[in-house]
Amino acid sequence: MRLDSLRDLFVHDLQDIHDAETQLIEALPKMAQHASSPQLQQALHKHLEQTRRQRDRLEQVMSRVGTSPNGVRCKGMEGLIREGEDVLRQQGDPDVLDAAIIGAAQKVEHYEMAAYGTARTFARMLGEREAAGMLQQTLDEEGNTDKELTMIAESHINREARQ
Ligand code: FE
Ligand code: FE
Repeated sequence: MRLDSLRDLFVHDLQDIHDAETQLIEALPKMAQHASSPQLQQALHKHLEQTRRQRDRLEQVMSRVGTSPNGVRCKGMEGLIREGEDVLRQQGDPDVLDAAIIGAAQKVEHYEMAAYGTARTFARMLGEREAAGMLQQTLDEEGNTDKELTMIAESHINREARQ
């Protein structure tokens, strides 16, 4: 794919993010399965449902700008998920392992926030106001998920893990 214009780059980024969300939809159930804290399990399941809606929303953005998923591979998400899978293979104290799962999940959310923030800005610069609004909505959701994970970590898991 040639990148000759900001629109080309915007389209490329949307395809990349679409693959990232797809990879995450496969990975989140495994992370939830390995979590010991019911609160963490619940948060990961909730974000799985939200991630499915985010991918649908992204497909709406893509059709709005005249593109569709085309097999771009998101190597960034691939790496983050691979690291997360290493975490899931570890043996140890359940609270410490939960703290590690939260850390892995927050790295994913921050990656998504960077990707959606960039795409949202491109959409604005291209005058795609509706697309920008939809991308901002997902960006806000990723930010809220990140905050929720911080709260779960601070409320009990990290405290237990310290003992
Ligand atoms: Fe997402
Ligand atoms: Fe997310």
